[in-house]
This record gives sequence, C-alpha cells and structure tokens, in this order.
Amino acid sequence: METTTVKAYGTEAADAPIHDMEIRRRTLLSTDVEIDILYCGICHSDLHAIKNDWGATSYPVVPGHEIVGRITQVGNEVTRFKVGDLAAIGCIVDSCGHCHQCHQGEEQFCENGWTVVFNSPDKISGGMTYGGFSEKIVAKADYVLKMPENIDLAASAPILCAGITVYSPLKHWKAGPGKKVGIIGIGGLGHMAIKIAKAMGAYVVVFTTSPSKIGDAKALGADEAVLSTDAEQMKVQSGFDMILDTVSARHDVNTYLNALHVDGSLVLVGLPNEPLEIGAFNVVSGRKSFSGSNIGGIAETQEVIDFCAQHNITADIELIKVNEINEAFERLERNDVKYRFVIDIAASKDKN
Ligand code: NAP
Ligand code: ZN
Repeated sequence: METTTVKAYGTEAADAPIHDMEIRRRTLLSTDVEIDILYCGICHSDLHAIKNDWGATSYPVVPGHEIVGRITQVGNEVTRFKVGDLAAIGCIVDSCGHCHQCHQGEEQFCENGWTVVFNSPDKISGGMTYGGFSEKIVAKADYVLKMPENIDLAASAPILCAGITVYSPLKHWKAGPGKKVGIIGIGGLGHMAIKIAKAMGAYVVVFTTSPSKIGDAKALGADEAVLSTDAEQMKVQSGFDMILDTVSARHDVNTYLNALHVDGSLVLVGLPNEPLEIGAFNVVSGRKSFSGSNIGGIAETQEVIDFCAQHNITADIELIKVNEINEAFERLERNDVKYRFVIDIAASKDKN
C-alpha cells in the first residue's frame, strides 16, 4: 500500500519522553478523507497508554483521540465531506460494519473487533494505528464526524472522547429532570459530565478529592459539591438514581453504592488498572447495579457534538504547544489540570 510521511509526536517506551517522529500514513483510498489536524486533546487514556498501564501498548505509540481539523483531501466515493470542511475523529476509525452492534450504531462493541484510532492493529494499512498527536490523519469517511463552524474548535476537541464517554451513559441511564445524578472526579470527563448532565436537566452532585475544585464545581454548573475525603459529608449522601464514576485510579466504590436509591446504578467509565472491590450487601440491598460504559458509537458522537453546540458547551481547556506535551502528561499524572489539555498542533505547523 502506498504511504506518505507525516510528522507526529510519540514515544518508544513507557519511561521515554514524547518526541517528534515520522510516521507513515496510507495515501487516500476512495472511501477516505485526509484531515489537516489543528487541535488534539489529551485524555487520561493517552497517559495510561503511553505508560502501558493496561499492558497492551505496542511501541512506538502516537496517542491522541480527540482530533479536530480541516479536510484536505476527499476520496472519490465520499459525498459527506468536501475540501475545507471542519471535521473530527474520536476513538473509532473502523469496525466490521455488518454485525448486530455495528447495525445498532454501537461500533465500540463491534462483534468482530473495532479499530481504535491509535495503538490498534490497522486492518486496512497493516501495522498499528497512530493517533492525533500528528499533523495529518487519513481515515474512512464513515468514521469521521462533522464539526459546526461557529464553535470554539480547540475547546470542542475534548467532546470527541470526554464528551461522548459521559454523554452516552448519562443518556442511557436517563439523566434528566427529576433525576439525581452523582459524578465522581472532576477531571476531563467529570467536568464535561457536570455540564452535559445539567443541560439534560438533572440535579447534579459532584464528588471530588480536591478541595480546590469545590468552588469550581458550582461554577461548572453543579448543584452540590462534596469533598469525598470527608467521611461526615459522605455519610449523609443518599437517593442517587445514577452515579457516574470517572476516577482513573483504584478507589472505594462501596460508599457510592450505598448512596444509590433503590434500582440505582453506579456506572464506571474510569479505567483504573487494578480491580475494584464490591461488598455484596452494597448491591443486594436496594437491587443496585454496578455497571460500565465505553465511549459511544459514531452516530451518538455526532449527536453529542451537536448537543454541545446547541447548549454552548465546550471544555475548560489549557491550550499547549507541542513542546509542552511532556510537561502536560506530568501535570495530568499529578492531577493538576483544569480541566483538559489541548495541543495546538496548528501553531507548531506555522513554525515549520
Ligand atoms: P483526569 O482528567 O485525570 O480526571 C480523573 C479525575 O479522577 C481526577 O481529576 C480526580 O478528580 C479523580 N482522581 C484521580 N485519582 C484519584 C484517586 N486516587 N482517588 C479518587 N479520585 C481520583 O482523567 P480523564 O481524562 O477524565 O479520564 C478519567 C478516566 O476515564 C481514566 O481512567 C481514563 O482512562 C478513563 N476513560 C474511559 C473512557 C471510556 O470509554 N470508558 C473514555 C475516556 C477515558 P478530583 O480531583 O475531583 O478528585
Ligand atoms: Zn479518551
């Protein structure tokens, strides 16, 4: 397969810094589009991946799955895009397209295995996929999202993972008027969850381990903010229909199960690399569920982009340059970001 060289930012080992490198991307196929990447968000999953937290990383790895940019080439079978359109790519770049889950629009549960935008075997080009920490990407147009023109593009990049990852379960578990929704962790996912759950009409309570975020939580739209390290405050929590858990590290979920209403669900989206323990009585009493959710399908990702545009929702971001990526990962690891780093890939290209 014909390929071209693209400048990217990745690493060869868990303990090596991110640096610029050259990767190969396939030249355009008739069903592909090429995107000139302008901004890419940094998700905690990128950090888990470069550190090989889940034991599945294949190096060199080029992370990045919150990608926005402009279309620069369109394959001759593609009708949904034209050169110059804004476009975006999240986690999914391919799936079988014909299994039950793909037909349901849930490509993330494709029965024949879906292709993640980075660090995933590439069924079309061979080798592994490389993500959005790069100047250009080529992908099947069917997995590319449309971005409205009248939004803050950099601050909208995090919708592609953080946004859809919280929107999908909030919708599935029917967050809305009359529902009491808890959100654990105010990070990239958590802060988007506050905004989206409020826009859906739910009563929102956030749980944070960071005293400095209590005030921010209210500004982000939460109705109540609870310091989860304070046992007295935690003891009185009750009546939740749903609690969305975005925590990236091992933590105790039993206090939260106890705070659920009868038939309530604690929904895990965070991906700690160690197992969590559940006390039997904490789910048995009250017929409670402990469940999980993984990003969202392509149609639902378009839906959350449009929902955010309609409700004026963007992420609170720190826009960084490519030479600040390593520092950003160190700060993300220390839980020091308010609330999402986004890389200004466009600015680095201007310098070349
Ligand atoms: P993030 O910005 O680092 O936010 C995680 C938040 O969790 C932190 O801000 C912190 O909030 C809280 N936290 C961190 N360590 C904690 C600990 N030891 N105990 C209790 N709370 C702690 O990360 P993110 O980008 O939002 O991602 C969160 C998790 O979701 C990651 O594991 C990521 O891999 C995963 N993820 C999953 C999916 C999916 O589809 N399921 C998609 C994207 C990401 P406070 O300071 O408020 O306590
Ligand atoms: Zn992510």
